[in-house]
Amino acid sequence: MSVISVALPVPMRRTFDYLATEISPGCRVAVEFGRRQLVGVVMANKAASDYPIEKLKPIHTQLDNKPVLTTTMLELAKWLADYQHHAIGDVVQTLLPAALRKANPLQQATLDYYELTELGETQLAEPMRAKQQQALLSMLSNGQQLHSEVRQSFSAAVIRTCEAKSWINTISQPVKPDLKWWHKLAVATKPTPNAEQALAIAAINAKDKQFAPFLIEGVTGSGKTEVYLQVIEPVLQQGRQVLVLVPEIGLTPQTVARFERRFGIAIGVLHSGLNDNERLAVWQQAREGSIGLVIGTRSAVFTPFADLGMIIVDEEHDESYKQQDGMRYHARDVAVLRAQRCQCALVLGSATPSLESLNNALVHKYQLLQLHRRTGSAELASQNVLDMRGQQLQAGIAHPLLEKMHTHLSAGGQVMVFVNRRGYAPALVCHQCGHVEQCQRCDIPYTVHKKLAKLQCHRCDDVQAIPTTCNQCGSRDLMSQGVGTEQLEQFFNQAFLKHSCVRIDSDSVRGKDKLAKLIDAINQNQHQILIGTQILSKGHHFPLVSLVVVLDVDGALFSPDLRATEKLAQLLTQVSGRAGRENRNGEMWLQTHYPDHPLLQDLINNGYAHFARQALAERRAAVAPPFAHQTVFRAEANDIALVERFLSDVRDVLARQSSLTLMGPVPAIMFKRAGRFRMLLIVQAAARPLVHKSIASQLSFIESMPSANKVRWAIDVAPTDL
Ligand code: ADP
Ligand code: ZN
Ligand code: ZN
Repeated sequence: MSVISVALPVPMRRTFDYLATEISPGCRVAVEFGRRQLVGVVMANKAASDYPIEKLKPIHTQLDNKPVLTTTMLELAKWLADYQHHAIGDVVQTLLPAALRKANPLQQATLDYYELTELGETQLAEPMRAKQQQALLSMLSNGQQLHSEVRQSFSAAVIRTCEAKSWINTISQPVKPDLKWWHKLAVATKPTPNAEQALAIAAINAKDKQFAPFLIEGVTGSGKTEVYLQVIEPVLQQGRQVLVLVPEIGLTPQTVARFERRFGIAIGVLHSGLNDNERLAVWQQAREGSIGLVIGTRSAVFTPFADLGMIIVDEEHDESYKQQDGMRYHARDVAVLRAQRCQCALVLGSATPSLESLNNALVHKYQLLQLHRRTGSAELASQNVLDMRGQQLQAGIAHPLLEKMHTHLSAGGQVMVFVNRRGYAPALVCHQCGHVEQCQRCDIPYTVHKKLAKLQCHRCDDVQAIPTTCNQCGSRDLMSQGVGTEQLEQFFNQAFLKHSCVRIDSDSVRGKDKLAKLIDAINQNQHQILIGTQILSKGHHFPLVSLVVVLDVDGALFSPDLRATEKLAQLLTQVSGRAGRENRNGEMWLQTHYPDHPLLQDLINNGYAHFARQALAERRAAVAPPFAHQTVFRAEANDIALVERFLSDVRDVLARQSSLTLMGPVPAIMFKRAGRFRMLLIVQAAARPLVHKSIASQLSFIESMPSANKVRWAIDVAPTDL
């Protein structure tokens, strides 16, 4: 008998000992834990336990004969648990695909597809009134489609009806391992790289089988993706695998299609829309080495590989790479570690690199590769500021900008209007007494949604009917204040009768497929005016857009958040990068009450690259990240006193450690949400190891403090927001 230490899905920062004959680490076991039965993963076999042997329970069932988590993945789990101060059991759960978190055996994966039946084929030849059903049949007439693909595009009701009428069928097919996938590589013709691209490609390809991190700082449309494609190629030719991470919004069918077209091999795609089985299939194929290329969002960084040869992180500055609850991690940081461990190249790319990565490049930890110019003859959009003070406004837009819209539209260009507020208006105000309708649980104004005829809280999603009288004075004189996407849409539909207007925000675009279809329609010039939020700023190419108008960014100029200016500069640069991709001289106009603000001036006159280096100099002077390390204790509860108590206790414990700077407890930027008060304690020092050691040495004491049980708390290492 040996002592088996098992990582279990419980919030305790430790493993648990059981008895059995030896079991290889990485195998799953079912064990009794209290009165429950849990599935855990064997971490080690030991000769002895800190507990009396006679009290240890036997392992109930051994679920795997061979490890499901390889040694590499177990080591990654241990590193993550230590680095993030997180419960090992929870980390191990995160690394397991959902299908393996239950007591199911690991089998060869099978996938479910929908296919068209003969009856369906006959039906498709008939004229149909139900357009959605017809669209589904025509989608399947091109061949079978994965369940999740179909479900992303069609409602359950449409699918059910087509099944009931026997027009479509489900077939299950086992995933066949293909251990010689690289024999199928069929590289399509590719453009000749320009001089800067060629330098970048040569630099990356020069490093073979060693850890070599690169940062590609390339303006939008400078051909970064083309560089990725060309550096991946020799790695795939050697039969080594490649992981490409993309931001959530960047993973569209077009992105995947571009890689497929280039290499002609199957690609494992990982995103949140997959079902457990589909996710498991990609995980398994990558692990056994039967797939060469995996493209995925944040959590794809935990994919096991048989022989990983390169990692690419596209739009490395994107916020979606940071997991903000549960086990908080930054996919970019995990990618760095994985590349280090498997001695391979790591390519980070962005038009607007994060200050962290840029700093690493400037101190030569990463090799910096710059692409200054757009490919072809397309120029970057000119960037301009419009002083809106005293200007006449319509739907919040200054008159000169409406004129510009007319000019561009008449010349056949498309116009993109960017505003970061969805809904009709950001507040409902009483014209008599000034009362603003607020969400009681978050203390922020409700957003008016006319289409839904509701008020909605954008922090907790609470929904209320729009009141007809003021809750404070009873007046009927209620008016909406400020402008959201819905209102702009309504206004443009009246003001630009000859042009079609389309709104792209999280209300109007649900599901990746819907967005992809809209983008296609825009690029076919079915719409000329695009209104949108964040979604519009990321990654997509809009070749016909010649004017970008940006509204409502003044708030970010005065935010208490250290990163607000960095985020704003990234946003403005990315938004303006959507314009003028095809031989068209694009312009970006930003309207503001603060045209002389130094940040705007620097950005407009000198560009992001200059701004970012300037911002780094300021951070250095202020001894702020990345020139200091921060780890944050976050706590929340319904009773603010409990939150303060806990964080003050943590502060007292850590205050005994010299060399730490402690700030707080201070309110989080999002102070109140859904009735809970949220505060934080910032622990800072010159270097991460100092902070790490201090917290690690006090953590079990902190966990045992009475005040710790009364709040929900978490540790956030190197937070990206406060
Ligand atoms: P980014 O990823 O920086 O936005 P892309 O790689 O998508 O840039 O390139 C923008 C466009 O230019 C794409 O249509 C791409 O096919 C094209 N392109 C990239 N590099 C070249 C090149 N060397 N010659 C011609 N066209 C190129
Ligand atoms: Zn009132
Ligand atoms: Zn709310």
